[in-house]
Amino acid sequence: MIRIKRFIDCFVPVTACNMRCPYCYVTQSGTSRNQLPELKYPPKYIAKCLSKKRLGGVCALNLCGHGETLLPREMTGIINALLKEGHGVFVITNGTINERFNEIIKLPRWRLKRLFFKFSFHYLELLRLNLMDDFLENIRKIKKAGCSYSIEMTPYDELIPHIDEIKHFCMDNFGALCHVTVARDTTREELPILTNLSREDYGKTWGVFDSNLFSYKLSVFNVKQTKFCYGGELTSTLNLESGDLRQCYQGELIQNLYENPSAVIKWRPIGKNCPESHCYNAHAFLTFGAIPELNNITPTYADMRNRVCRDGSEWLMPTVKTIMEQKVIKGR
Ligand code: SF4
Repeated sequence: MIRIKRFIDCFVPVTACNMRCPYCYVTQSGTSRNQLPELKYPPKYIAKCLSKKRLGGVCALNLCGHGETLLPREMTGIINALLKEGHGVFVITNGTINERFNEIIKLPRWRLKRLFFKFSFHYLELLRLNLMDDFLENIRKIKKAGCSYSIEMTPYDELIPHIDEIKHFCMDNFGALCHVTVARDTTREELPILTNLSREDYGKTWGVFDSNLFSYKLSVFNVKQTKFCYGGELTSTLNLESGDLRQCYQGELIQNLYENPSAVIKWRPIGKNCPESHCYNAHAFLTFGAIPELNNITPTYADMRNRVCRDGSEWLMPTVKTIMEQKVIKGR
């Protein structure tokens, strides 16, 4: 069985996107768009710097851009190199870059068993851009190739009149309801929920999707974490372009992983000094075990991602499911 040593959230510095979703964090922050990164390090070198030996074992590496993660041409090579190294690779995508999916499904099937896609389901935007067929076809393709996936919708108030229609669409096309996240208002320091509804009404409105992701995120949203956090050791964040490894999004720099690929990594947990007003990505960090004291009351990342379809099939394939059902444990 694959044992996971760490969870690392890898930032792909792309702000370009083919969509214009009103709730997008890049749109909210007013950051300039349409920037493709200059990934100056070749995939082989990135994988060398992130070798299993150096990281202490197999890791779960989450690749996510501020725009569409799969727009940069280099992504297929990077995904392949990280899979080849033996890691579990998770890709956050809007599911519409056909060229990239066509490349990825040609990778060796035994590697694709460790690959997971989180399809962000931008329902109205997919309809507006006439991209829904591409979205569905790309899900079908990666499923056939043996990859795992999840389909997740960002709730926002303008989508409320479409809830019934979306539920029907999901059952007809995904075999199960999509998962639902909790969107944050990044224009305010305390990062509140992005809605005009009360918290209670928000919970009731989007709770109809019966999503573990939604119920867990909502339960810890805006809750300041004060217990000892192993962000910086069991979990961390990495800028895939520069190689900067940090304890967490706002944590201290641990070191640059690209400067010297053989330098030992000096992991350093953030402890009780979480700088965030709340752990807004608790559905990944805490479900993987960043705060061990919470492990026995925290669901698994597999709970956040899987669905059993009405034909009995599941969104997660066995290898990825095994990876996502684990907590990362210190010293293991
Ligand atoms: S509690 Fe969450 S946001 Fe804070 S340091 Fe730990 S993982 Fe990061």
